[in-house]
Amino acid sequence: MGKEIPREAPWRAPHALEWDNMTMQQLFDKICWTSAVRRFATLFVNVNVTSEPHEVSALWFLWYVKQCGGTMRIFSTTNGGQERKFAGGTSQISECMAKELGERVKLQSPVHRIDQSGDMVVVETVNKQTYTARYVIVATPPGLILKMHFNPELPPLRNQLIYRVPMGSVIKCMVYYKENFWRKKGYCGTMVIEEEGAPIGLTLDDTKPDGTVPAIMGFILARKCRKLADLTKEERLRRICEIYSRVLGSEEALHPVHYEEKNWCEEEYSGGCYTAYFPPGTLTQFGRVLREPVGRLYFAGTETASEWSGYMEGAVQAGERAAREVRELNVLKYL
Ligand SMILES: Cc1cc2nc3c(=O)[nH]c(=O)nc-3n(C[C@H](O)[C@H](O)[C@H](O)COP(=O)(O)OP(=O)(O)OC[C@H]3O[C@@H](n4cnc5c(N)ncnc54)[C@H](O)[C@@H]3O)c2cc1C
Repeated sequence: MGKEIPREAPWRAPHALEWDNMTMQQLFDKICWTSAVRRFATLFVNVNVTSEPHEVSALWFLWYVKQCGGTMRIFSTTNGGQERKFAGGTSQISECMAKELGERVKLQSPVHRIDQSGDMVVVETVNKQTYTARYVIVATPPGLILKMHFNPELPPLRNQLIYRVPMGSVIKCMVYYKENFWRKKGYCGTMVIEEEGAPIGLTLDDTKPDGTVPAIMGFILARKCRKLADLTKEERLRRICEIYSRVLGSEEALHPVHYEEKNWCEEEYSGGCYTAYFPPGTLTQFGRVLREPVGRLYFAGTETASEWSGYMEGAVQAGERAAREVRELNVLKYL
């Protein structure tokens, strides 16, 4: 099905309307014949887009998998979405860029007003700082624009789009151990756990490249994230260790030395993670304005990408595209 969906414009797929009006759950009900396949299909949606099959449009999800290179590449650790890590962690990317840019990077300064009624665009932050520019690139997830006021108001389709694209739900959980006991048993540390009572859906070995700091990273996904958010951190850890112990067949999993977790749903300026999802009926009706500029406002952010949207790669593609749009406008002006 993904083959007939254009990466740049999924709303132009031959069956776009039919598939967009259907959820992934409805598609699974039609094409999955065994409970084993249904369980895996549900987990596949949970893991890849931190939401439930009944929440997402079939057209959007099929597009999402396609623009990540298909079902194998999106899910795989070898030659796939989970293959690479940055030694020292990915936060170094933004930290190093911020260092190079110096004072121009303003932290703790949420934008709450964008006014393009005059010659220049005026951007105002919650802490009452104002900045003027000829163009503005907004690179937040689409729904977070709801926290901003616009003058003039946003056009109708964009104004409605921003109410319709919620963020996924995930708690990222890091369990640290004294020893990398799973490797001794010949296990790679990747667990795919379908059991309804298990908090975690997918794990990856997160031991440092030099073999120090043995750790297992696991995701609490979608419905389970919402259900388990109210437990204490200790209780979540207890349940996580229990399932690791059962899956790995090892008592050692019950004795972590440290635990860290992050519930992304509580982040005011993310609204959830990893990315926004499109409920049924949204992509065909509103998708075409995702990348459409509004006056001198341009839109980036991973949700606007056409390759690895939902990932850092997509964020880079989107940023370069938006920068090109602004630059080309300037070139045209001087021709
Ligand atoms: C748990 C988790 C695991 C992930 N794993 C991976 C992975 O393994 N590989 C991968 O490639 N991607 C992964 N992702 C996804 C990746 O983090 C995102 O795709 C990427 O960060 C998107 O970049 P972005 O620049 O589009 O948006 P963001 O990184 O969300 O940046 C948007 C920025 O806008 C800011 N902002 C919001 N509102 C305002 C406002 N009003 N004023 C000013 N600033 C504002 C936010 O604070 C934020 O800094 C993961 C995400 C999560 C949460």
